[in-house]
Amino acid sequence: MKKIRRRCLALSCAGAFLSVASYAQLSKPVPISMVSSGAAATVDLASFQIRPNVVQGLSNRADLLKSTAGGDITPSGGAGLGAGSPGGFNLVVYPGYLSNPNNKPTLHTARQHPVYINSPTAPNDPAHWGNPQIFLDDLAGSSFIHLVDQYTLDPYYPTVRYPLGTQYAASGPLPHFAHLVDIIGLLHNLALQAHGYNDVYHIFLPQGQDYCFDAANTQCYSPDNRKSFAFCAFHSAGTFNDAAGHVIFSLEPYQQVNGCQVTGLPSPNGQLMDSTASVLSHELFEMITDPDLNAYVNRDNLDLYGYEIGDQCQSASANFGFVMLKNFHFYEIQSEYSNFYNGCTFFP
Ligand SMILES: [Zn+2]
Repeated sequence: MKKIRRRCLALSCAGAFLSVASYAQLSKPVPISMVSSGAAATVDLASFQIRPNVVQGLSNRADLLKSTAGGDITPSGGAGLGAGSPGGFNLVVYPGYLSNPNNKPTLHTARQHPVYINSPTAPNDPAHWGNPQIFLDDLAGSSFIHLVDQYTLDPYYPTVRYPLGTQYAASGPLPHFAHLVDIIGLLHNLALQAHGYNDVYHIFLPQGQDYCFDAANTQCYSPDNRKSFAFCAFHSAGTFNDAAGHVIFSLEPYQQVNGCQVTGLPSPNGQLMDSTASVLSHELFEMITDPDLNAYVNRDNLDLYGYEIGDQCQSASANFGFVMLKNFHFYEIQSEYSNFYNGCTFFP
C-alpha cells in the first residue's frame, strides 16, 4: 500500500481524475470467423517465434525461456554480473538491465484488440475471463504503462498510447491440445482487419482448452496434464505473405488455475479477473518492448539471459502488488522491470 500512495501522489491522481468520463464506453465483441481460406498457404508457421510466460514453480522454467530466446541474443559477459547477482528471483532482480543494441522495433502506440474464443458463459461474453477489456482500458489510462517510455524512448506525458481497440469473438471447434495451426485462420482474418506495429491481438482461450507449442504435446498450457504443463501464456509475431502482413499477438489461456493464478488473496477484483489481468499485463509490456522477440531482453546476466521485461518480475511474490490504474481501479498484478530503478516496479 505504501507504494501505491507514493505513486499516486507523484503522478497518477491527476490523470485518474481526468479520465473518469471515459469509463464504460466499451463496445460489444464483433464476430469473426475462425476459418480463413488460404491462410496456411500464405504463412510459414515455423517462422512464428514464441515467448512463453512460464508456469510458477516449474523446475525447468529457466530452460524453457532460454530455449525460446531469439537467435540474435548472446551474453555479453559483462564483468562478473552473473556471478555477483543475488541468485534467482527473490525480491528485486538485479542486475536485470534490458538492452536493445540493434535498435529493433518497439511499439510506440498500438490498439489492444481482445479476441474471445468459445466463451461458454454466453455468446461473446468476456466475463468468462473476468472482463480483460476493462483491465486493458484501465491500464491504458494509468501511469504504470508509462514504465515502457524509457524503452520506447517516447517522452512521458499522460496520453493513452495503448488504447483498447476492437473486441472480437470467435467460435468453432478446437482440438483439446490446440496448436498454432488451429488458430492461424483466425489470426489471418484478424490481420486482414488491421496489422503491423499499431495493432496487437490478445487471444483468449476458454477454461479447459489446452494449447501446445510442439507436435508431441510436451510443452503446453495443460493444467489437466502437469507433466506437459510448461507455460501460462505467450506472445508471438509472424508475417503472412499476403495482404494480412505482419501480425503481433498474445495467446491467453484460462488463468485461474494453479501455477498461473495470483495468490495474494483476497485480490481487489477477485482471483479470476486479477489472474487474467496479471498475465495479460506481462504479455502486453513484453509486446511493447520486444514485439518481434529481438529488442529489449537481458543480455548482460547469465542467470537472466534472454529474459524480457515481464519475465524478470513474475516469480517472486514480492514482485506482485496492488496497483492503482485508471479511475482508482486497483488490481493485483505483477510488476515490470525498470532499468531506471534497477528493479521491478509499478512506477513509470
Ligand atoms: Zn514473458
